[in-house]
Amino acid sequence: MTDFVLEGRRVFVAGHRGMVGSACVRRLQRENCEVLVAGREEVDLTRQADVESWMERNKPDVVIVAAAKVGGILANDSFPAEFLYQNLMIESHLIHAAYKVGVAKLLFLGSSCIYPREAAQPIREDALLTGPLEKTNEWYAIAKIAGIKLCQAYRKQYGCDFISAMPCNLYGPGDNFHPTGSHVIPGLLRRFHEAKLAGAESVTCWGTGAPRREFLYVDDLADACVFLLKTYSESEHINVGTGDDITIKELAEEIRRVTGFEGSLVWDASKPDGTMLKRMDVSRLGELGWRASTPFTEGVRKAYDCFVGAQC
Ligand code: GDP
Repeated sequence: MTDFVLEGRRVFVAGHRGMVGSACVRRLQRENCEVLVAGREEVDLTRQADVESWMERNKPDVVIVAAAKVGGILANDSFPAEFLYQNLMIESHLIHAAYKVGVAKLLFLGSSCIYPREAAQPIREDALLTGPLEKTNEWYAIAKIAGIKLCQAYRKQYGCDFISAMPCNLYGPGDNFHPTGSHVIPGLLRRFHEAKLAGAESVTCWGTGAPRREFLYVDDLADACVFLLKTYSESEHINVGTGDDITIKELAEEIRRVTGFEGSLVWDASKPDGTMLKRMDVSRLGELGWRASTPFTEGVRKAYDCFVGAQC
């Protein structure tokens, strides 16, 4: 099959202010296409009429659905209605409007939390819907599974070239560094940095430190998105990751080194661990010819530089 041509196309990045959307905008600047963005003040993606009228007026050729309500393990667990409702609305409105205005290609982004809590490792794409979800993020997961199914349904019924990609845990510039609402890498970068400045003796991390996670630098994801837009056109969603995982304890040690904090680590087991394992099988993407390129320490350092304001 010949590759989809991005050159000269109007590419709408929904969610361009977020970590993933802003990385997609950076990456698309090398593609000779026209990048379209719309701030929340211009179009509220949770409102169907806003989305449909913006899409009618701007007629993109390509849409990347990088807009979502996201957050770390505590945020997901604490705001279930927001995570389920907002994500269902955002994806439904974008996918349906893309169909109505005849978008040539749409890429929907989800997350590895769509897979069953006890999925066999590494997790293959066909593990979807084979068992119960992890409770701490099931609201977000259900919304993202519905997004995959929407893309498949519009492909099946209307022949739309809508594809879905499921990245592992992401990190990098533009992340949310909120002390409690964020994911583990930005959360710990902030906590270690502040502890270093305050001369604190210890830093408290959540859970037991035993869970393993696979982390992908966000600019690598953006590169994979461009690759998939050009080369992938199948109903089944596809995993995007590095194929490697580390324990949260190892991660905390890495963040201690990068931030230069010299005190000790304390583990607060009253906070949830979440799922113990979620390493993805990325062999399908590898066979297509894509792999991640940013070494982990370099990526964490760049995320830290962004947090301390050196460059972002
Ligand atoms: P998850 O993959 O959905 O569980 O996403 P998170 O990035 O929120 O959490 C990953 C793991 O890191 C979990 O086992 C957390 O308990 C652990 N963790 C340790 N310290 C922190 C922290 O300060 N913030 C967050 N979000 N997670 C932490």
